[in-house]
Amino acid sequence: MVNLDGTGNRVAAMIFGPKKVIVVAGKNKIVKDLDEAYNRVRNYASPINAKRLNRRTPCCETGYCLDCNSSDRICNHYVVTYRQNVKGRGMVIIVKEDLGY
Ligand code: SF4
Repeated sequence: MVNLDGTGNRVAAMIFGPKKVIVVAGKNKIVKDLDEAYNRVRNYASPINAKRLNRRTPCCETGYCLDCNSSDRICNHYVVTYRQNVKGRGMVIIVKEDLGY
C-alpha cells in the first residue's frame, strides 16, 4: 500500500498508534506495481488534490508533477506499507466502485 501525505498525520497513525486501522478504498486505487503507484500518485492524485485544495503548486497548472519546492507542496511523506506486524491490526476494504482520487 502506497500513501503520500502532506503533514504525515494520516500515515503516522496508519503505522503506529491506534489498535486497529481500517482503510476503505475504491477499486480505482488498485495498480499493477510500485512504479505505477508512484506514477499515479505523483501525476494524477496529487495534482488533482492540490487543485481541489487551491494550492499554488505547478502541478495545478500542468496536471503532472514537477517535483516542486513550493511552500504549498502536498507531497512530503511517502509511506509504503508491506504488512502489519501486529496480527489483525490492519484491514483494507476494497469497494467495487471508484472513490476519490
Ligand atoms: S511535488 Fe509539487 S508539483 Fe509534484 S505533485 Fe506534489 S505538489 Fe504537485
